[in-house]
Amino acid sequence: IKKQGETISKGHKNYELMLNLQLGIRHSVGRPGPPPSLDLKASAFDPKEKVWTRFPPEGSKYTPPHQSCEFRWKDYCPLVFRTLRKLFKVDAADYMLSLCGNDALRELSSPGKSGSFFYLTNDDRYMIKTMKKSEVTVLLRMLSAYYNHFRSYDNSLVTKYYGLHCVKLNGPAQRKVRFIIMGNLLCSDYTIHRRFDLKGSSLGRMTDKPESEIDANTILKDLDLNFLFRLQKTWLQDFRRQIEKDCEFLEQERIMDYSLLVGLHFREPASAGDLIPSGSRTPTENGGPDSDSVSRLSKADMDQLLMDPSGWGSIKLGEHMPARVERTERREELQLIGEPTGEFYDVVMFFGIIDILQDYDITKKLEHAYKSIQYDPTSISAVDPRQYAKRFRDFILRVFAEDE
Ligand code: ATP
Ligand code: CA
Ligand code: CA
Repeated sequence: IKKQGETISKGHKNYELMLNLQLGIRHSVGRPGPPPSLDLKASAFDPKEKVWTRFPPEGSKYTPPHQSCEFRWKDYCPLVFRTLRKLFKVDAADYMLSLCGNDALRELSSPGKSGSFFYLTNDDRYMIKTMKKSEVTVLLRMLSAYYNHFRSYDNSLVTKYYGLHCVKLNGPAQRKVRFIIMGNLLCSDYTIHRRFDLKGSSLGRMTDKPESEIDANTILKDLDLNFLFRLQKTWLQDFRRQIEKDCEFLEQERIMDYSLLVGLHFREPASAGDLIPSGSRTPTENGGPDSDSVSRLSKADMDQLLMDPSGWGSIKLGEHMPARVERTERREELQLIGEPTGEFYDVVMFFGIIDILQDYDITKKLEHAYKSIQYDPTSISAVDPRQYAKRFRDFILRVFAEDE
């Protein structure tokens, strides 16, 4: 099956940047250090400690010679991210192999509107996103709360961040590229057939693609949603409880504009008919290797669990889980869920809360004021963090229901 994105090979306009990034990560992650303690001192979160490492092409005492242009490299709060990686059970060698092994990264044709660039590692496990300075500021401001949130809730649905770095290119402009490394929520042995980016707001929340062009890579939005997600009872309770906790955290940090990313794998493509794009295959057909990563259930375990719903309670949140989706009529109004049609599909769901680095700053306040003149204020994506969290939660309560 065709992989998402364009491989960055020699000649690509971001080829050197990719090399710099890989050199930098190898330098940061490979550096020996004592195993971090989970009890971090407050000083670890101090963003002011700035250390730039110079990477001259000929190499230096601390850096290897390389084929790229000269650049400088900075890690933000390296000890915190090292500790987060430990908390997330990421093995340093595996991490480096994914990000800076021999394989090139792939660049996605910018999926968001913000202008950020996205890169995927060749094994699909990690996603790299370029950041605005303001997003870096927000993350550094909330980093200790973020860390504590994950210490309290290892089932949190919030995106896992593994590293925050900056590359400064030599040259008159001294261009800086800041980027974050996160887990790819939709990485699995299961083919993802549909993906939804859900916010709970309605204005502009529909794909601009005609129905005939919608495929597995189309990012569908709130108004495209024509499913109700049916979860087993105990599972639904855990899920809702975790959404509450995560929203509470984001609200306290004055964050808004985040979404719930949902990926769906349809268990029986044959019976799902037109839902599944032609050309997509079932996981057994594509014969990909089972990746038994520590943080994820293997496909074999998952298949076992799917056969025996009594074991579903043991599936952890934030990983994939079995569910049923009920097809509904799509309605292009505020009430997002239309009439159930009684059509059910067995799916494996993947999900998480993404894009959590927008705070309710002056631009968002202006956007809200400006759009409120023309539209219903509650339908606008930019609302204050409290309203945002409420609308998000309410929406999720509506579309995630108990399986009878
Ligand atoms: P905007 O601010 O306009 O929403 P953005 O540039 O901030 O855009 P994101 O919302 O972070 O971008 O991401 C855009 C899309 O990229 C998402 O809808 C999702 O499909 C994909 N994506 C982002 N983060 C992840 C992740 N951790 N795992 C998998 N897919 C992701
Ligand atoms: Ca977004
Ligand atoms: Ca964003």
